[in-house]
Amino acid sequence: MKTYRIATIPGDGIGKEVIPAGQRVMQAIADEGGLRFEFQNFDWGGDYYRQHGVMMPADGLDALRDQDAILFGSAGDPDIADHITLWGLRLKICQGFDQYANVRPTRILPGIDAPLKRCTPEQLNWVIVRENSEGEYSGVGGRVHQGHPIEAATDVSIMTRAGVERILHYAFKLAQSRPRKLLTVITKSNAQRHAMVMWDEIALQVSREFPDVTWDKELVDAATARMVNRPASLDTIVATNLHADILSDLAAALAGSLGIAPTGNIDPERRYPSMFEPIHGSAFDIMGQGLANPVGTFWSVVMLLEHLGETDAAARLMQAIERVTSTPALHTRDLGGQARTDDVTDAVCAQLAQGRQEKAA
Ligand code: ATP
Repeated sequence: MKTYRIATIPGDGIGKEVIPAGQRVMQAIADEGGLRFEFQNFDWGGDYYRQHGVMMPADGLDALRDQDAILFGSAGDPDIADHITLWGLRLKICQGFDQYANVRPTRILPGIDAPLKRCTPEQLNWVIVRENSEGEYSGVGGRVHQGHPIEAATDVSIMTRAGVERILHYAFKLAQSRPRKLLTVITKSNAQRHAMVMWDEIALQVSREFPDVTWDKELVDAATARMVNRPASLDTIVATNLHADILSDLAAALAGSLGIAPTGNIDPERRYPSMFEPIHGSAFDIMGQGLANPVGTFWSVVMLLEHLGETDAAARLMQAIERVTSTPALHTRDLGGQARTDDVTDAVCAQLAQGRQEKAA
């Protein structure tokens, strides 16, 4: 039987609720037979920082290196500056393991009351590919003369040909694998006339390797309006680190809730483990109350299973999730319901068990 080593990092806030829920669902999948998970939990995050002065140990990446995948909750703490929590944990793993493709599927799941009144669920089915290793989040920059009137600060956006080529290659390949074979390359190459123009040029070059993919370009500001007004004109979307970060929160909101949206930080070359996480943050306003929607984590588990090649298990879990979202009594507060994290988790596990019984019958 295939055994997968899975690192779980709940992190902060509701990460501590949704990641154990995700682990329960993974165990329910293992109970179906055919595969096993060996979980190793890492207590890194804000509490770890209070004790040790760092979000994760200096040799933390070594502890993760041999895992088959990572399930991550959230990094963020009201008492610790956001740039410390983000750079000290999540980005350290993403950059340390060169997880350069951040993949964010967005769909309106059955039973979800999404905000766009003219958009049917069939018309919103996107995958956003976010460049995840450089660009605006390169970490290059500095501050001088802090606190003085002459203080200056820079954040330098570094875009390399190698970095842009590999993300565009990944995006074209992903678009090619989807039924509509449609890609939109989003930049701001009218105002940013160096790196963004290079993106456009490289997109044209890479497109020649994918003659069966239809593609177009869009400026990021126009892209926001297009997502709202013409959602069906989009399918696969690729954008820079910052642009796709913003667009995918909009996408999640248009699909019904931030609590549903999943993401994968992928190393396509599989040199290192990839990391899967809900796109929401720590949500301190609801933490510890059992109100967190765990669906974003469950959908992230679907992506994790697909990445491991366990496509049947992934499809079974997605079906179980969709059956649960179809039931309004199982909607959490973010979806206008009253269900609790445990109710949703129990229901998904029960759906998996029911599917197993139906198969056996
Ligand atoms: P961070 O600073 O870590 O990004 P945040 O609280 O600023 O955290 P989010 O965690 O993304 O940002 O939350 C934004 C809003 O969405 C909050 O009001 C939160 O309660 C709600 N929310 C986010 N995720 C969920 C979820 N899984 N279930 C229910 N509500 C959620």
